[in-house]
Amino acid sequence: MSFTLAIVGRPNVGKSTLFNRLVGKRLALVDDQPGVTRDLREGEARLGDLRFTVIDTAGLEEATDESLQGRMRRLTERAVEMADACLFIVDARSGLLPADEVFADILRRKNAHVILAANKAEGKAADAGYFEAFALGLGEPIRMSGEHGEGMGDLMLALDPIAKEFETRASETAPETDVDIVEGEEDEGPRTPTADKPLQVAVIGRPNAGKSTLINQLIGEERLLTGPEAGITRDSISLRFDWGGVPTRIFDTAGMRKRAKVQEKVEKLSVSDGLRAVKFAEVVVVLLDAAIPFEQQDLRIADLAEREGRAVVVAVNKWDAEGEKQAKLKELKEAFTRLLPQLRGAPLVTISAKTGKGMDRLQAAVMRAHEVWNRRIKTSHLNGWLSEMIEAHPPPAPGGRRIKLRYMTQVKARPPAFVVMCSHPDKLPESYTRYLVNGLREDFDMPGTPIRLTMRGQG
Ligand code: GDP
Ligand code: GDP
Repeated sequence: MSFTLAIVGRPNVGKSTLFNRLVGKRLALVDDQPGVTRDLREGEARLGDLRFTVIDTAGLEEATDESLQGRMRRLTERAVEMADACLFIVDARSGLLPADEVFADILRRKNAHVILAANKAEGKAADAGYFEAFALGLGEPIRMSGEHGEGMGDLMLALDPIAKEFETRASETAPETDVDIVEGEEDEGPRTPTADKPLQVAVIGRPNAGKSTLINQLIGEERLLTGPEAGITRDSISLRFDWGGVPTRIFDTAGMRKRAKVQEKVEKLSVSDGLRAVKFAEVVVVLLDAAIPFEQQDLRIADLAEREGRAVVVAVNKWDAEGEKQAKLKELKEAFTRLLPQLRGAPLVTISAKTGKGMDRLQAAVMRAHEVWNRRIKTSHLNGWLSEMIEAHPPPAPGGRRIKLRYMTQVKARPPAFVVMCSHPDKLPESYTRYLVNGLREDFDMPGTPIRLTMRGQG
């Protein structure tokens, strides 16, 4: 389930170019069906995290009996009717033309949700046309170049509230059934790793934490062979292997660092490596050296993984070299809770990359975290749970009026994200949201994944 965006505007402003950029090869072949005209193209668009359906009204140049003006109008009206929002494109190079006003009229009359974009706006030549676009009275135009990919971030920002509103609307009308209503991520939904889509893991940690040793331990001696032997292939950043039967790609920061050689760059490199690794990974293994755990750099990278919404497993390495293991473990757990409260619930596993001890527990924790990260909870279960939570501990009543939490649904996975409809979201204290998040984690058993919970008003 996602919203639909129609790209409208007069011929030649760059609608198709933008459509192609947003859709890439994911074109829906709607025109294969008999009786369906070819004049509206539809495709599945991606823009950052956003997924939506996009309709292109181009193809107006094709000669027909109908006048261009009439045909244009008819197509646009149809697209507007099909869409949740319209991206109205004008050409910043040519400036406004009378035909632009025709489209503006249609959009106003249909009361469509309009995002205005001044396209072909790369370079100074477009300045005048860009400022002219304000005169349409449709708000501040996005400065964009569909051809060069400029302004895509602004477009994303403009679309984000529409995506959110749509989610809200979808959840408000959602049936209270056992059917999982979460859609819109079909291609990335809950899944078992396959050879095509392996589990993506990154091992991050300070220099000398034991990352290379761990990767060698996991992959085995085969890695030392040259060439793609025994199912192991190596590209510049990741290694593929079978982790206890699960197709896995592991991000090889250690290898990168070692290839870089220049010693002074190590610190800097390992931070940016860490960033790349986190972006790559579904599950991030934060590798600590038991002798010097939770250094600044470890904390930074663990925090980054959480903020990026990755599943996290903390592995304490070189456990073989520790005496007093019980006391040390207790100490580590306390430090973990204190220093990384945002990772509450993430598993902590002690391992020895050198001897191979703990590899099975590490794997179990990673697989588990991945499963939880992908988890989708049924709306009916969530709402049953929400009423119990409210009953056990009602939300506050500022000024004598109790804040009402009405409805809850999971809007996405990877990591799990929930929305709660709330009568006064701005008045609900952060502590109450935390109460719900911690409750979710406990009651639905979700260790090792960030949980996002948003309160949304119904106004
Ligand atoms: P449509 O008729 O609105 O679908 O427009 P097209 O996408 O077919 O583009 C019309 C022309 O404008 C083509 O020659 C494109 O290469 C050009 N064009 C599209 N986007 C841009 C842009 O961002 N900058 C510039 N300079 N030209 C563009
Ligand atoms: P990296 O910089 O994170 O890739 O770390 P390395 O894998 O190169 O390991 C750094 C040092 O720690 C090496 O001397 C390893 O032999 C040692 N080391 C790695 N894992 C272990 C372990 O589990 N136990 C012990 N005692 N030493 C280890």
